[in-house]
Amino acid sequence: MRALVVRGRNATSAVEEVRLPAPGPGELRVRIRAAGICHSDLSMVDGTLAPAYPLVLGHEAAGVVAEAGPGTRLAVGTPVVLNWAPACRSCWHCRHGEPWLCTANTAPALPRGETADGTPLHVTLGLGALAEEVVVPERAAVPIPAGLPPEQAALLGCAVLTGTGAVRNTARVAVGESVAVIGLGGVGLAVLTAARRAGAAPILAVDVAEAKRELALAAGATDFMLSDDRLAKEVRARTEGRGVDHAFECVGRSAAIRAAWRLTRRGGAVTVVGMGGKDDLVSLAALDIFHSARTLRSSVYGSSDPDREVPVLAAALGDGTLDLRPLVSGTLPLDEAPAAFGRLARGEGARWVVTFPD
Ligand SMILES: [Zn+2]
Ligand SMILES: [Zn+2]
Repeated sequence: MRALVVRGRNATSAVEEVRLPAPGPGELRVRIRAAGICHSDLSMVDGTLAPAYPLVLGHEAAGVVAEAGPGTRLAVGTPVVLNWAPACRSCWHCRHGEPWLCTANTAPALPRGETADGTPLHVTLGLGALAEEVVVPERAAVPIPAGLPPEQAALLGCAVLTGTGAVRNTARVAVGESVAVIGLGGVGLAVLTAARRAGAAPILAVDVAEAKRELALAAGATDFMLSDDRLAKEVRARTEGRGVDHAFECVGRSAAIRAAWRLTRRGGAVTVVGMGGKDDLVSLAALDIFHSARTLRSSVYGSSDPDREVPVLAAALGDGTLDLRPLVSGTLPLDEAPAAFGRLARGEGARWVVTFPD
């Protein structure tokens, strides 16, 4: 089968023929219908993370069970969304209600299959979903209703679960609270959508690119602001001089975390959703930390349990109460995925989604 493979750090990805093993006990082979290109896929290539290569990219996808290994429950033909942090349900975090911190999911890549020339292959976050097929543990496949648009359902597996969970589970945004979102990629736009659904107001969308204005307003923002010298002043003008109750950092850079910190009111909360680099240090004044009484915390995979929350989001997608069309900038065939990585790196559009013919 064909997959988007990267051969090393900072190498260009290319579509290659690869071989996957047949599903073993407790495993499924899933035929991919749609797979989003996420910023974390760039992190697998640009040195932010250190996976093993050659590596199949992709971790945000919807597909259909094509083959069920021994001892599995899901029937062939079941539509599923892939979960890149399947909970073991037995480690300390799983037993204490924090399955998103499961200790079984710490590796950026796992060995699976081989390239056409027989080189051992690895897959991103245990999935490698920018491919015609994946072989995954059954617990990495969450069943969803049939008939959902695959290019929207795919986003439930990363951007939407992360963005929604950051708002609902991590920050617990209440009706009428003010929100600022910095960085309007797929996750930032999903945070806007979730903030709107949570009844937040105003919802201030912030990006360095004016081109994100229309996307932001379509996704649920009440205002769009450019990230420049006047930003803090403009945010205060929209919040009676205080700053927002909640700021969400969806970039993964120390400068954006500091900006989020400055936009937040005394006693408010900054939620870091973006994954930054290990050498990018955030400096905050000790007096400011004390005096501002702000909370700074991160949201990993939306502090969510995908087994419980993906079906709820899928149902909302099915009944029309969740509209993810604004998040999908376009669909493209697998062969065009390398070019879409360039667009993502330049911050163009929202989510680019690779779709596969039926
Ligand atoms: Zn992702
Ligand atoms: Zn666990």
